[in-house]
Amino acid sequence: MSTLGELSQNGHDFIDDNKLEALLGNSNDFKTEPSPARVREILEKSLSKVPLEVEETAALVNVRNLDLIEEIFAAARKLKVDVYGNRIVLFAPLYIGNKCVNDCRYCGFRVTNRDAIRRTLNTQEIEAQVKALERVGHKRLILVFGEHPEYNPQYIAESVRLVAKTKEGCGEIRRVNINAAPFDHEGFRIIKDAGIGAYQVFQETYHHKTYAKWHPQGTRKADYLWRLDSLSRAMEVGCDDVGIGALFGLGDWRFEVLGLVEHARHLDKKYGCGPHTVSFPRMCKASGVNGDELTPVSDDEFKRIVAILRVSIPYTGLILTAREKEDVRRELLGFGVSQIDAGSRIELGGYSEMGDMNHQVQEREQFQLGDMRSLDEVMRDLVRDGYVPSFCTACYRKGRTGQQFMEFAVPGFIANLCTPNALCTLTEYLQDYASPETKKIGEALLQNELAKIPDGSRKIDLLGRLRRIAEKDERDLYF
Ligand code: SAM
Ligand code: SF4
Repeated sequence: MSTLGELSQNGHDFIDDNKLEALLGNSNDFKTEPSPARVREILEKSLSKVPLEVEETAALVNVRNLDLIEEIFAAARKLKVDVYGNRIVLFAPLYIGNKCVNDCRYCGFRVTNRDAIRRTLNTQEIEAQVKALERVGHKRLILVFGEHPEYNPQYIAESVRLVAKTKEGCGEIRRVNINAAPFDHEGFRIIKDAGIGAYQVFQETYHHKTYAKWHPQGTRKADYLWRLDSLSRAMEVGCDDVGIGALFGLGDWRFEVLGLVEHARHLDKKYGCGPHTVSFPRMCKASGVNGDELTPVSDDEFKRIVAILRVSIPYTGLILTAREKEDVRRELLGFGVSQIDAGSRIELGGYSEMGDMNHQVQEREQFQLGDMRSLDEVMRDLVRDGYVPSFCTACYRKGRTGQQFMEFAVPGFIANLCTPNALCTLTEYLQDYASPETKKIGEALLQNELAKIPDGSRKIDLLGRLRRIAEKDERDLYF
């Protein structure tokens, strides 16, 4: 039972450790390995865009045969191309405050880390950060908070409103997401009313004993069920874009993949709509964190995690953050990642106050980042690899939220909406912020993408809008 407050309707602990452990079996026991025929049958189901049951995901997790693992990778790549095309949505994290009452033993912000330099940005400081982000071209932010009485729902709602109204030149933030502590129904309602995009709460680990090990008794976060149930509460008050996640490196990665799939299926069955996104952060070095107790996840295992999540939850966005190094990010984009952050700085005040942009001070940060490229560098690299970087925020602003099947169920959704919107925001970026080199290759990509669009009224409409952006300096045009 949760000790912190009322749970969602029928809120209960839907993670059954015994069941999931039984599905995984012993990792050294080859008896659990599924036959190639079974694996292919599961992948075929996934390629027809039907979410997998946890038993099917477990079968994929249990594959050890390298050729079959390659088949899982190939299915993830195919789903990525078929379903998401070549768009990648870009955002940046904005850390607002790092005070925290919890003592999560993996995090540099935890209360017992005396070396952490504590700070909460004031109004002027938040404005300065937002303007710095707008000056380089960002349109979508995620605000990040420690868990602290100061960061209550009213405070978070005010921060969201402040970010949304802070504008610099033609820059503006059009979508504000949140990563913060779980609240009760009333708290989520207050934050929703401020007009947030998505609300993220990561379970960190779905395994109960492992959860207890990393979240000491007596802290708020020690209440496993309060956290597990939080996004159900959010959905019940209308926050229908929610993000789940697990922190890889705390326990057995195979269990966490099953936990994420169970969570996604639970939300889908209960509310008719699964999570908007799934995150799979991998543990990074952090101030005062003893790495000896971690269960490190190798790059090869990490690839399997992303590919298996892609094929298990085909309709959900996958977020890969700058915790990962550039080469890992590059490879995993091909496996169905749909959103990445770029030009990220997680030091409080880091976007406007850091002289040497590549210098990281551990005591000021929650953890150490792996990819320190600027937004323009990430844009250039994406374009070079044939991706269309997108800052699109149209669905949320048109009220097209919470329907995870949208991209599948509505014929021509990607062709008629996502791709044209991505090209509109790319044109804005190339006009307003791109370096000469990014602009040159970006324009070539744009022409290439336009050539792929069949002639017709949508294309005529799109070309008209692109001209209005490029020649008449109009902004924020979307379908
Ligand atoms: N305090 C809120 C919470 O715990 O939910 C807000 C989020 S916390 C600032 C964001 C996420 O960072 C956590 O949910 C956790 O998954 C991740 N995180 C914490 N320590 C980390 C580390 N050392 N390396 C990588 N990610 C970490
Ligand atoms: Fe606080 Fe979140 Fe870090 Fe835990 S993960 S110590 S709750 S900021």
